Amino acid sequence: ADTNTAFGLESSFVDELSALSVSWKGAEVPDPTLLVLNDQLAAQLRLDAAVLRSDEGIAVLSGAAAPSDATPVAMAYAGHQFGGYAPLLGDGRALLLGELVDIEGSRVDLHLKGSGPTPFSRGGDGFAVVGPMLREYLVSEAMHALGVPTTRSLSVVATGCPVHRNGAEPGAVLARVAASHLRVGTFELAVRHGDILRTLADYAIARHYPQLTDLPAKGERNRYLAFLEAVVEAQARLVAHWMLTGFVHGVMNTDNTTISGETIDYGPCAFLDAYDPSAVFSSIDHSGRYSYGKQPVVLKWNLARFAETLLALLDSVPNDAITAATAALDTFDDHYETGFTRGMAAKLGLAGEDVDRALADELLKLMAAHGADWTGTFRALADELRGNSAPLDDLMPRESAGPWLERWRAELERYGRGMAETADVMDRVNPLYVPRNHHVEAALRAATTGDLVPFETLLEVVTHPFERRDEWSEYAVPAPRSFTDTFQTF
Ligand code: AMP
Ligand code: MG
Ligand code: MG
Repeated sequence: ADTNTAFGLESSFVDELSALSVSWKGAEVPDPTLLVLNDQLAAQLRLDAAVLRSDEGIAVLSGAAAPSDATPVAMAYAGHQFGGYAPLLGDGRALLLGELVDIEGSRVDLHLKGSGPTPFSRGGDGFAVVGPMLREYLVSEAMHALGVPTTRSLSVVATGCPVHRNGAEPGAVLARVAASHLRVGTFELAVRHGDILRTLADYAIARHYPQLTDLPAKGERNRYLAFLEAVVEAQARLVAHWMLTGFVHGVMNTDNTTISGETIDYGPCAFLDAYDPSAVFSSIDHSGRYSYGKQPVVLKWNLARFAETLLALLDSVPNDAITAATAALDTFDDHYETGFTRGMAAKLGLAGEDVDRALADELLKLMAAHGADWTGTFRALADELRGNSAPLDDLMPRESAGPWLERWRAELERYGRGMAETADVMDRVNPLYVPRNHHVEAALRAATTGDLVPFETLLEVVTHPFERRDEWSEYAVPAPRSFTDTFQTF
């Protein structure tokens, strides 16, 4: 049953691109329970948290009822999954309720995941379970607190219905908010219906890169080429953020690569414990295609698939379309290198323009050789500057680290800043707390059996990643090797 309550929803995507979605409704949810609600995000969306906590609000967040002004749809898209093309994917367990304009005037999607089968469910059941939906909530909110562009999470509702995975698990629905759900896969589908490709591109430009709308549709500086360049830059910056944060997405299919440049779809993701470029946490990623160290290369591959979809719109540029698209794609490397190198310099207290990539690379070699904890190493380096060498000694032998530490200190001297001040500057960019895998697993296990306290505590910790509190000290400690040696997310 639908509600009489309006949420302030709009439907520009459905109005302008009706061919890319199917009108749909969520499954019945007889016994919903609100597990977590993001009050701050609700306020930013001009939604009344009291309404969201009411029976009617919970029914909406569970997918069972729709606001009076919603136009719920399942979105259609295609995509390359693990390198193979799937001509039709689409929301197999999700619904777009509509768009909200937030207090800053930004248009965002309000979307449900786990809301029941749709015409795109293929072999799947259309549902989601408590553990993975709380994982997405926790990790996306942590990423936001870390300053990484990402979708946000508004709520998780337990449905009260069992879902069959490895045995019965409690069902759940996540409400998430994104700049949009347009993805490379949306363009891969649209290009096969040639008539809507240009409409889709103009819609995406207006929504995400409005500064380009006035560029001409043809000619050398045409808006579709500028659009490609803008998406390449946004995604290159995003993957640089991931690498600096030690984040492994785990399933970088083209249907999980956004046009906005936000991180989306937190499935088998994880944060690095021990630094290892070949780290993979998902058991279905047999070849290591989406390992930590391959993420920039794979992202560029995904952007090549995006560039291909735009070729038909670039055909009036003076060079041929392929040359123009290739040049745009190749700007990826500079954007990525700049983002990563500047970020590493900041992590090392060297926030100048002339950053030394070799110094960062030498440190990475040391970290890999000794399996040093990613997050912990940068905090230990700041402690080192304060004269406390114990934390770094726990991560790597001094005789190996010594020569590098001397070079680093010599480099820092050139800035003429006091070492204690540099340490404080470093602590403002290097998080003390990330969602460490062993804590995430323990919190989700407890939540699945009905105890939300560990989840709530962990959420509080990881959404304050730079704020040292004595009672949170265990969250800053690396996982035991017995855990990291065998850990898999999926
Ligand atoms: P993901 O790997 O989560 O990005 O999902 C890839 C595709 O599989 C999307 O089209 C999803 O909607 C679909 N999918 C994932 N899980 C299910 C499920 N339990 N039931 C139906 N479709 C699903
Ligand atoms: Mg997806
Ligand atoms: Mg998904």
